[in-house]
Order: sequence, then C-alpha cells, then structure tokens
Amino acid sequence: MLAVGYAWVLPAQEGLFGMERKGETIHWSIPDSLLGRDLMLTTTVLKAPARTTPDYTKKYGHPGDLFGPIILRFRKVDGEMWVTDPLYDRHLPATSDDPIVNIARLRGDERLYDTLPIVSESDGQTTIDVSRWLKSNQLLGLKPVAFELELGTEDASRTQLKDVKALPHCMLTRKRLTYRPLPFMTPGRKASTSESEWEVGICLSLLPKHPMPVRPSGMPYFGITQQEYQTNPLRASSRSLMKRWRLELTPEDSVRYFQGELVEPIHPIVVYVDRHTPARWLPCIMASIDAWQEAFEQAGFKNAIRAVKEPTDDPNFYNYDNSHAYISWKPSGQSNAYGPTPCLASTGEVKACHIGIFSSVPDLLQLWYFTQCGAADPQAWDVELPQSVMDELMKLVFTHEIGHSLGLEHNFFGSSLHSLDELRDNDFLSRHGMGSSIMDYMRCNYALRPGDRTDLRNRIARIGEYDRWAIEYGYRIFPGKTEEEQERNRQAWLKQTAGELQHRFLGSNDVRAQSEDLGDDHVAFNTQGVENLKYLCSQPAAWDSPDIQSLHVRQRRYQYMITILTEWTKQVLMHLGGYTQDEAGKGIVWEKADYNRKVIDYLQSYVLTPPEWLFDAQLVNRLELDRTTLARNFYDKMMPWVTDRFADISRAQCAGTEGLLTLEEYVSSLHAALFSEWQQPATPVSDLKFEAQRAYIDQLANYLQRSSNHSSHVLALVTAECARLLQEAEAYAGQTPPGKDRGQALELIEKLQAIAN
Ligand SMILES: [Zn+2]
Repeated sequence: MLAVGYAWVLPAQEGLFGMERKGETIHWSIPDSLLGRDLMLTTTVLKAPARTTPDYTKKYGHPGDLFGPIILRFRKVDGEMWVTDPLYDRHLPATSDDPIVNIARLRGDERLYDTLPIVSESDGQTTIDVSRWLKSNQLLGLKPVAFELELGTEDASRTQLKDVKALPHCMLTRKRLTYRPLPFMTPGRKASTSESEWEVGICLSLLPKHPMPVRPSGMPYFGITQQEYQTNPLRASSRSLMKRWRLELTPEDSVRYFQGELVEPIHPIVVYVDRHTPARWLPCIMASIDAWQEAFEQAGFKNAIRAVKEPTDDPNFYNYDNSHAYISWKPSGQSNAYGPTPCLASTGEVKACHIGIFSSVPDLLQLWYFTQCGAADPQAWDVELPQSVMDELMKLVFTHEIGHSLGLEHNFFGSSLHSLDELRDNDFLSRHGMGSSIMDYMRCNYALRPGDRTDLRNRIARIGEYDRWAIEYGYRIFPGKTEEEQERNRQAWLKQTAGELQHRFLGSNDVRAQSEDLGDDHVAFNTQGVENLKYLCSQPAAWDSPDIQSLHVRQRRYQYMITILTEWTKQVLMHLGGYTQDEAGKGIVWEKADYNRKVIDYLQSYVLTPPEWLFDAQLVNRLELDRTTLARNFYDKMMPWVTDRFADISRAQCAGTEGLLTLEEYVSSLHAALFSEWQQPATPVSDLKFEAQRAYIDQLANYLQRSSNHSSHVLALVTAECARLLQEAEAYAGQTPPGKDRGQALELIEKLQAIAN
C-alpha cells in the first residue's frame, strides 16, 4: 500500500525513462532500445554553502558551476543492470588487419561503475531500482571535484534527494549534499571548521546515436587526444581531435549550402544567459555571443549562434539541464572570466558548456582603459567610466571567452600585424581593427596620443580577420562523399588560405606572439605607451580624489601603471636573444643587434634612468602611498626580466649567426647606465637609482647561486661583472664623504663581498 499523504509520492512520469517515486524508492524504466547507448552526466551547483572561511578569489564553488560531462551506459548483464564507463582513450579502426590493433582489441573498452537491481522486465522495458545509486553514488555529486572545492568526506546520513524528474531528453535530480570540513589545508590556507551544505542539480541526458564526424585538431583549436597504433609501425602514437560544436544540415539545406547560400544548422548554438545577470551588463553579454554570427556566416551558416535570456516563466526550463549552454555571473573578487570546452572524449564534440564571469571583471577593465587610452580619451579620468566605454570593454572579455568555448585557443600573434600609423588611422581601424584576433590578449589602443581621435570601437579590440577564418577552418563543411574526401578538400582550402598574414596562428616563443602587447614594433609601440603614462602622471585632473572612493580608484590606477610599465618593458626585453619563426615555419631567425640596441635605449630611457615622473613625490603623496616601497617593488619585479635575458643572448650568440648583440655589450650597457655615478667620487645617487642598483646586484647574486642552471659563458661574465662592481664601489665609497651616498655604496659593497666569498 502506498504511504498516502507522504510528500514524495509522485505520479509516474514519462520521459527519457519512465519514472516512479514512492518515498525513498525510485524506479526507472529504461527502454531496451536505449541499453548500451551513451548517456551524459553533469552536476551543477544550485546553492553554495555558507562557509566560515570565504575565499573571494576561488574559481569554483559558485551557484551555476557545472562539472562534467561523465559518460556512462546501462547494460544488462547476468540479471543485473550494469552502469559502465565507456572508454574512448584509443582509436581502433573498425576494420583492420593490423596485428597490434587486433591485440589492442583484446583489452575491454568499458569499465564497471556500479550494478543496480532489476525490478521487472516487460514490454521492451527494464525497470531498475535507482534509489541507492541516485542518493549515494559518488559520481552523482561533488566527489569528482572535491579537490577544487576543498571538500572533506560526504556525510551520507544527511544526503537528501529533493526532486526527481523525467523529461523527454533527460533525467533530472536535485540533491542536498553535506561535506565534512577538510582536515588539513595547503600551506598558507586556513582550514574550514564547519560542514558545507550544497544543493546540486544532476542531469543525465541521451547522446545522439550517430557520433559527430571527427576532425584532426589543428593548432588554432583545443583538442583531445586518443592513442592509436596503425600510423607508426614502430610505436604507439596519438591523434588529436578538434573540440568543436556539432553543426549539421538537413539534406535540402546541404544542397543550398554547397550552392553558396547561407543556411541555418539543424541545432544552432544557443547560449542561455543567467537570469540573475545584472541588467546593466545583459545587453553586452548578448551582443558578445551574437558577435560570432558573422564568423559563422563566413563559414556558410546563418543564425548558427545566438544568445537567449534564461526564461523566467517557463516551468520546464532547468538551468542544470545539460542540453543548454549557459553563461552565468558569479559574485567574486576575481577580475576574470572563463570559457571552457567540455567535450565528448569520443569525438571532441563540445557539450554541457558553462561560461563563467566573475563580478570584479569591470574593475580590471577600467584599469586597462585608463592606462592604455587615458592619454587620448580624458573620459577615462572619471572615477566611473561612461557606460558606452564599459560596454565595449565588457564585450572584449565576453567575446574572447565565447571564442574559447567555440574551441579557439589563444593566438598571441593576432596583435602584431599593424604599424603605429595604421593604429592611429580611424578609417584603417574601422576596416581592420587593432589586430587580427580577439583570441589574443590585446586590450586597448595605446598607439593613440593625446589629441588623436578615433571611434570608441577602434580603441578596444574586437573580432578580427583571423577569428573569422579560424571559425571557417573549424566549422565549414567541405564537399565530399566520404569523411576522407571532405578532409582532403579542407586541407586544400587550408593550403590556399593559411599563408595569409592575417590568418596566421603562432603559439610559440616567437617574439611577435606575446600577450598584452600591440603592434608590429614593440619598441615604438611601448615607447608611445610609456609616453602616455608620463602624460597621465602630469595631469592633476586625472588624479583628483575628493572622497575616499575616488582615492581608492586612483590608487589602483596608479599602481596598475607600474604593473603595465613592467609588462611593456618585459615585452621589449624579449627581443634580446629572441627570435621569430621564418616564413616557412621551419626554422628561426634571431633578432639582430640593431633592433636589440633600440631595446637597450628603451630600457635606459624608462627603467635604468629611474622614472622620476612615475614616482613623483607629489603625486605619490597625494595618493597617500609609500614611494620607497613602490619603487623597491618595481625594481624587484623588473630586474629579473632584465637579467633573465643573459641566458638567451648567450644562447643566440653561441648559435654563430652574424650581426647579433653580444652578452658582453648588454652587460656593459647595463653597467654604464646603472653605475655611472660611481665613476666620479661624491656624485649623488638618487633614491630610485639606488633601488635599481640594489635590485640588479641581487639578481647577479641569484645567477651565481643557481649556477648549475647557467652556461659557463654567462657565469664567467657575471662573476667578472661582480668583481668589477666591487672594485668600483670600493673606490667610490673610499672617496665619498660620510653620508647617504656613501652609506648606500657600503650596503652594496656588503652584498658584493658576500657574492665574492
Ligand atoms: Zn583566454
């Protein structure tokens, strides 16, 4: 007899599987036609716990976070229902006489996860009891991500199944889970002492019977790897499959597609936008998703991707239904966002995509805009940037993350195409943008000087020619009766188009492929960038702080100027001992001494000659910051980049190419710039210069301490330089009267003597 009145007696539900719930007992009736089919399991955080040690910089643990997919199958074996894990780690062709492939086939391709009792079998259906499995199997919860969420063991006695549902395409379960505190924590972190209580939504959905055709992964796309045995007769090798979404056409549309007509895919990419997203940002999130439409149009599709606001009035919409791609807003101290590509290991098909945006990202964006466009656009001086500017900046971030979720990797070559003059020309910018790719870390147009006028969209990076080409590379359907023929046609297209500079992808150490940079000439661009910082420092109105809120904003912007000066200098320095790939992509071309000398001039102008304009006492005092600490931190962070180049310059020099900078010349330029005062007794050394000298000598000491990491060429030179510095410092101190300058020299002598000993 049914427990009448018990809250959890549900009427039988029809869905992917039939379902009945009576109290704690839940039965699923699985059509026999679905036995052995692949099912996709995901877990979504619906409610996050109250924690006594909140960490606002954590990436995971927020409502909306989705984990998975895990693939499983149901299979009847010996009167039980097995839940199995199909393995897709290998590629074994269906027909092959290869003896290794035949031996490899002897290994199973399914592991057992669990067994479930069969209750009855009738009418082509098998009814199983899933009560225990749903409640306590570790796959259906947070156990697989316990490390990321810092969870202890589950308190099973308090696990509660709150709701179960059968929908036509999936089975949904809501669960309350309680985890004990983690007994220990990584060093420097405080262990939580309280239990954490979570509510999660679990979705089990049916995957299509026919897998998506695979494509070999090319450089611009994320890929997944499978082992294979038939390509190389000498050893097992691997193949990489491109991660991408499944865009397919009906037979009628396929005909129109190959006639050149834009057609809609059967299942377009629909990204649902979290209904809790602040209204202020909703339009630009939607626009960033829709911005990819034109790239898919280049690949022959219309309406292939679109944004939809999560419905609030549809009782059948569940945000943990894994057939929806989802983008959610997370209250957090992180100034970041992420766009993952969870996929099926069998084919690389992207499934169950969840994009996250952390709520502090606007703060980082206003720092970028102030430091990079503040000279050209005085609107950037306002404590709160205009909505129009913030919208463009937010689109920059969202569009990039969507690009990742479409499968695209970073392309740090994308910002290196254009010249200073081009990036100051509004018409050029309107046609080509700042670079070829939103998948670069290219932010705002710092080629612009005070007085240069461009449209707002030309001051911030957007989707470029490379991105559209890369989508075509991954998604265009090529003609051919078989997959092999289609792939041959795709490769032929690739050969024709990949050589263009604006389609180029570089993922190597090529000096042009650097993040956070801009333009085809680092010295010229970054000189302009630093001149813009200098200009900003000289504008009192940019630092006006009538209240505490504006003071905090000004402080952060000022500190970010120091960060960006370090970053820009680092990019320039990478040319010392740096190289580019040759046009054929087969060899490297070392950077020549003439450009390297420009790098040294830049270094001398903005770092070795201390940037008094940046550490201006009046400005720093006005911002209520400590000048000595700031300058010390600046040089402590800067000098490792200056001295790290020793090894690369030496390596290039030893390669035997003509016309390269020598390490001897670099070290002697540093010496001349940093220690010029020591050539004349009693010449005063400024406080900033002393910080530069100290940080440099610390780095030389570091080199000698880690001597096993370096070549004898570098070590001999550093040792000789230290000896020379000691000699000069002693001469300077010996002839300089007691006082600050002599005291500082003595402090450095002590360090140099320690090195000598
Ligand atoms: Zn990225």
